[in-house]
Amino acid sequence: MFLIVIGVLSLVLAFPSPPYRWLSDPGYVMLAAAAATLLPPMVAVLVGRRAVVLLDAHPDHPGRGQYAFGRGMMVTQFLLAVCHATLFLLTDWVPFCGRTPVVGGWPLVSGLLAIVPFLVSILLAWIAVYPADRAVRHIALETHLFRGRPIQPVWPLPKYLLFNLRHQVLFVLIPMVLILAARDVIGLYERQIDARWPNAHVSDLLLGTAAALVAIIAPLILRYVWVTQRLPDGPLRDRLTRLCRKLRLRCREILVWRSGGMIVNAAVMGLVAPLRYVLITDAMIEQLPDAKIEAVFGHEAGHVKRHHILFFLLFAFISGCLVTILSARAQRLDRLTYQLLTVVGAGLLVLKWGVLFGWISRRFERQADVFGVRTLALGGLPCDMPCALHHPTDGNPAGRESPTILCSTAAHVFGDTLNDVALLNGIPPEARSWRHSSISSRSRFVQKLAHDPAAARRFERTLYRVKLAILLTAVATGLWAAYELQIWRLLG
Ligand SMILES: [Zn+2]
Ligand SMILES: [Zn+2]
Repeated sequence: MFLIVIGVLSLVLAFPSPPYRWLSDPGYVMLAAAAATLLPPMVAVLVGRRAVVLLDAHPDHPGRGQYAFGRGMMVTQFLLAVCHATLFLLTDWVPFCGRTPVVGGWPLVSGLLAIVPFLVSILLAWIAVYPADRAVRHIALETHLFRGRPIQPVWPLPKYLLFNLRHQVLFVLIPMVLILAARDVIGLYERQIDARWPNAHVSDLLLGTAAALVAIIAPLILRYVWVTQRLPDGPLRDRLTRLCRKLRLRCREILVWRSGGMIVNAAVMGLVAPLRYVLITDAMIEQLPDAKIEAVFGHEAGHVKRHHILFFLLFAFISGCLVTILSARAQRLDRLTYQLLTVVGAGLLVLKWGVLFGWISRRFERQADVFGVRTLALGGLPCDMPCALHHPTDGNPAGRESPTILCSTAAHVFGDTLNDVALLNGIPPEARSWRHSSISSRSRFVQKLAHDPAAARRFERTLYRVKLAILLTAVATGLWAAYELQIWRLLG
């Protein structure tokens, strides 16, 4: 969901006026805004009803209702994205908001007005699916009771809405509003800036700097937008702190993320150590033994130690450079060529994010899995299997410390953990997603690498090449964009 929010909100940032005007008559624009607001919630009503009917009709197979619900939510989210992207890209909605009497010209106001339909649409969709969501939570509650695990009560509607708002919207919206404010303030002084440094695109550079600053302080904002608290002192905290020291992973704090007992997951956020947090959900602490929490923690630590966030940022930086190059060239093109180029560029970006990003993301997940296996071994997991790391044989003579030789027991426990987390989150082990391979294939993968050090070496080499390619492309497009912007004029 939050990816949709990021996508739609960045459209508002990127396009103060639509690249193609399909509707410009105020009446039709208002009508389009109303349609975009109401269509996704209407579909959500159908999705919610169908899920409830299926859950009632097949009490022995709650998976059917859950699956239909998950699918339906994907359709709803897709509609949300398409409807509001259409509103922003093909109609005069955003400039229309800027023409609001009195307040329209103030910084931030037009941008905030423009996203109101999107926010209303999301809120209505959540209200529509709440009954289905409550039914799914009731089933989870019964399973937890049956297993003798701790339970948390199902939320009433206001609490459900507030939680979703904080976790799916506000955590994107607040950093975005900061960037929007920076953009509008820079826009106010654009004439003075252009007069001081003609053709040097200083305002674009300022906006880029503001965005980078927001990205760096975002974890501090998220800590308070999400419901979190410090992981209390105790054996788990000691274990994780010890692991952090061994892995040389520096972070500001280990936090418990209160998800109402629904999400079993962990995350690391923050680019720089002084503003980096490790998050572990309440449900994970309740449902998993400490060794398995260590496994999930190891996976998250792998994302940090293998610099995945940095490479994703470089990946995004490449997109930014391409857009910059296009817009710098646009000033020298006629309108039709510009529109054509925009379409081609947008197609390329969709391909880059839709296909390539998913491919890289799945490789990064596997690399983090491998790191998680290493973390388990490093944490002192007792090894009781034939193992290349702890019981080297003639076939596997290694046995020394090496990033590509994995402990079989650790790989086994790690695979088990992945399966547990999937089951607890109600994800079928065979289900794939855009960013993640299926749980069972990930679990098989680490166990295969533990038995085949040569394959592990090949895998690490592939990852090294992927990262090198991202880095070189980023440098090349960065230089090209700098050339297009004629950055050297700033110095002269
Ligand atoms: Zn991951
Ligand atoms: Zn071992």
